[in-house]
Amino acid sequence: YSNRFAGKKVLVTGASQGIGEATALRFAEEGAQVALNGRKEDKLIAVREKLPKVSGGEHPIATGDISKEEDVRRLMRESIEAMGGLDVLVCNAGYQIASPSEDIKLEDFEGVMAVNVTGVMLPCREAIKYWLENGIQGAIIVNSSVHQIIPKPHYLGYSASKGAVGNIVRTLALEYASRGIRVNAVAPGAIVTPINMSWINDPVQYKNVSDHIPMKRPGEGREIADAVTFLAAEDSTYITGQTLYVDGGLTLYGDFEKNWS
Ligand code: NAD
Repeated sequence: YSNRFAGKKVLVTGASQGIGEATALRFAEEGAQVALNGRKEDKLIAVREKLPKVSGGEHPIATGDISKEEDVRRLMRESIEAMGGLDVLVCNAGYQIASPSEDIKLEDFEGVMAVNVTGVMLPCREAIKYWLENGIQGAIIVNSSVHQIIPKPHYLGYSASKGAVGNIVRTLALEYASRGIRVNAVAPGAIVTPINMSWINDPVQYKNVSDHIPMKRPGEGREIADAVTFLAAEDSTYITGQTLYVDGGLTLYGDFEKNWS
């Protein structure tokens, strides 16, 4: 990899595993100092062990629940202090709960919205405030999902949250475009991470998922990191308010490939 993020300071939420871990690794491999957020310090320390060292400091551990205002204020302040700044915020943390929608529990719905929506709004707010006060032209990348546009039955909270994230990105992008702050999203399809263990370890389900994807395979965390780093880098300085679908063609209405007559 290049050294294109040398001297850059990045914070990744939900960096203890999966796409967040892969993203943190990629930024560090390209020279960035990366603050690692998650709720469990021991898991974050284990991730830090895998990252290339950064000259002149350590990758900070930013423990805290991203849906809680006090946690976000504290961990953002501590990360900025530890790194001496912030250039890129990656809002990656997210989760889902399955249930028929007629039985959905309010606490489950609100829990998903709290992490996937409030947990995006709060760090964005803190980063933007810091950038405006310091005249920094930062970049935000939010991890959305193909379920920003594809309905996901049995996952009503998740679908609602990712739809909301799409409009958070577009609204913040418009509000801060003239100040040079860019806000974009990546929208992964089916990616091999711990969130998807239910089908990854079952050969029949794994084949079902793969058959359903035009490229006939799930994606890897590093393929999402490719897109996140692109949207953070000098390669994308004129791109804002966009959602980049990284999904092996999942959003292309795959049935038309078989039934085109
Ligand atoms: P994952 O479950 O492996 O990782 C999620 C991370 O978020 C974990 O590190 C977890 O600890 C963290 N997290 C959850 N709640 C948190 C909270 N309250 N505060 C701080 N951290 C918290 O999942 P993943 O597959 O790596 O997913 C990462 C993001 O990508 C999510 O936003 C998810 O919706 C999105 N996504 C994933 C897929 C996929 O197929 N894996 C597809 C589309 C979108």
